[in-house]
Amino acid sequence: MVIDPGHGGADGGAVAADGTLEADVNLQIAFRLRSLATLCGVPVIMTRDSASIDYPVDAETLAAKKAADQKQRVELINSIQNAVLVSIHQNYYPAAGPHGAEALYAATDLSEDLGKLIQEMLIKTLDPENRRVAAPISEEIYLMRNVNCPAVLVECGFLSNPEELEKLKSDSYDQKLALVMLSAYLQYFQTGWNL
Ligand SMILES: [Zn+2]
Repeated sequence: MVIDPGHGGADGGAVAADGTLEADVNLQIAFRLRSLATLCGVPVIMTRDSASIDYPVDAETLAAKKAADQKQRVELINSIQNAVLVSIHQNYYPAAGPHGAEALYAATDLSEDLGKLIQEMLIKTLDPENRRVAAPISEEIYLMRNVNCPAVLVECGFLSNPEELEKLKSDSYDQKLALVMLSAYLQYFQTGWNL
């Protein structure tokens, strides 16, 4: 399993009203997922495992740094045999109302199956009121467009929703999110091998 904690380094991602950075929440959930996966004997590679990122010396602007970082991540992911990518992000909306986790899948083979399974489990396990459905990810997301393995990006929740933000900041909720992603991954493989 390749775990991609979104953003990091010069790019904090979305910022909650209390200053919580998306990049930090993503990394906390990724660490939980790595621990659980390792415990279950699933080999894990992380696209980053700290808050900082090493950029090429010629990447001076934020845009150049982000572009270089995304390119490095894609190269890493595409160099791994039999990779399955779980990219971890948080959502943000200008109004406080929207909430609920959402799985967005790449166009590569089997991504849709994994995305739908993750979405179903997120709803059942964490939030039966969540009406969101798994959806194809926007073509604009460079990393998800360029990886060649099954890939799902999980928007775990909305940093703009105060209630959801508090949940996302708690270890117990992060642990549940990680468990859902791992369980779906394990089920996906069982299904995949039995096809
Ligand atoms: Zn993000």
